[in-house]
This record gives sequence, structure tokens and C-alpha cells, in this order.
Amino acid sequence: MTIEQNLAQLQQYIQQATQHDQRPASTVTLLAVSKTKPVEDIYQAYQAGQTAFGENYVQEGVEKIQYFAQKNIPLEWHFIGPLQSNKTKLVAEHFDWMQTLDRKKIADRLNEQRPHDKKPLNVLIQINISDEDSKSGIHPNEMLELAKQIQNLPHLCLRGLMAIPAPTDDLATQEQAFTQMNVLFKQLKQALPDAQIDTLSMGMTDDMASAIKCGSTMVRIGTAIFGVRDYSK
Ligand SMILES: *Cc1c(COP(=O)(O)O)cnc(C)c1O
Repeated sequence: MTIEQNLAQLQQYIQQATQHDQRPASTVTLLAVSKTKPVEDIYQAYQAGQTAFGENYVQEGVEKIQYFAQKNIPLEWHFIGPLQSNKTKLVAEHFDWMQTLDRKKIADRLNEQRPHDKKPLNVLIQINISDEDSKSGIHPNEMLELAKQIQNLPHLCLRGLMAIPAPTDDLATQEQAFTQMNVLFKQLKQALPDAQIDTLSMGMTDDMASAIKCGSTMVRIGTAIFGVRDYSK
């Protein structure tokens, strides 16, 4: 299958899944995760109508962003990997979204380093929802405190939450984590009624069905669009 066919199939799948839940397909954004994949693949996806892309590695992401900027191809770039504080400047300068915010220190740096001629950087708070050993993401109890701190930073725009639950084939376990995320998402909206909280980023190739069922508004899909990744290069 080509990248174009994969994208069409995913869009159709999102349509069916959202119809089943009686919400419009437009309530779920498809983020194409292009890490390790060449610019040629991204260009193919763009030609098939895909405009939002996710990258995990700062340097690789910035090279791709610059490549398409030079060609005047307007794409939207999401940083979705773990971010060390010495790499925040590149993310602040080049990306449109940062989905893995889990520390005030990183928020402060991104806010300081965001160029003032750009729109505020859209950010999501990453929640450590099921994988207690993972160092990424904050505990649900800490969400509101960090959210309020972000609200005070003029060059960041808090848009919602993101999670990467521990991988499992068990649908009930998947849905449990995603349901918890949806509860947190509603709490966040309620606590900050004036903020533009509209994004719940959850669901990857292997668990997107459960994620959409539990209220995801953004699925991050790599393998089902671009094929399996080769990390050897
Ligand atoms: C790699 C990655 C994805 C995409 O995973 P697939 O299983 O290939 O769809 C989504 N989100 C994050 C944070 C990732 O690192």
C-alpha cells in the first residue's frame, strides 16, 4: 500500500469510529508521525492532503522543518519526543506544537525562547497515566498546578493533554487509561474555562481504536502511514 492509500484508509477509519460515537470526524485530527522517515515520504503524505507532522528528535525535526520551509510548503510541526532543557531553544524557534511538556523549567525556557514574531507555541501537558516507571509525564495530581503556571506564560498557549500509556493488547486496560485521560481533560477544561483547551492527544497505530472511543481528539500515527521504522541508520 502507498502512503496515500494508508492515509485514505485511516481517514475512513476515523470517520467510521467517530460516526459510531456520534461525533463529527473533524473532531479527531490525524497527526502523521514521521520520525526516522525521509522528506520524500513526508512530501508524499503532503500531496495526499496531510499537513500536520510529528517528530521525536530535535535535530532531525528541525532539518525537515527547514527543508519544507525553503520550498514554501506550509506544514504544521509537532514535537512529540522527550525534551532535554538544553534543546528547548530549537523547539521554541521551529515547531508549532510541543506535546510533551511535563516540567515548569521547560515551560519557562520555551516561553523565553519563543520568537516574539511567531504565534505562541501550542503546548500539551504530558500525563504519566499508566507507566509508573517512565520518567516522561507528570502525575495526574500535578496537572492543575503546571497548567496554571503555563497560563501565566504569554508565549505559550496551553491546548490540552497528551499521554503514551504503557503498550498492551488488552483492550480493557487500554480503555481504562484513555478513560482516565478523558476525565483529566474535562477537569482541566473546567478549571480553566477561559483557556483554549481543545486537544486530547492519545492513540497510536496499535491503540487508536480505544483512544477514539474514549474521546481522543488527536491520534499520532506513524507505522500505519509510513510502514515500520528502521532505527539502524
Ligand atoms: C513513534 C510515536 C508515535 C507513533 O507510533 P506508531 O505506533 O508508529 O503509530 C506516536 N506518538 C509518539 C509519542 C511516538 O513516539
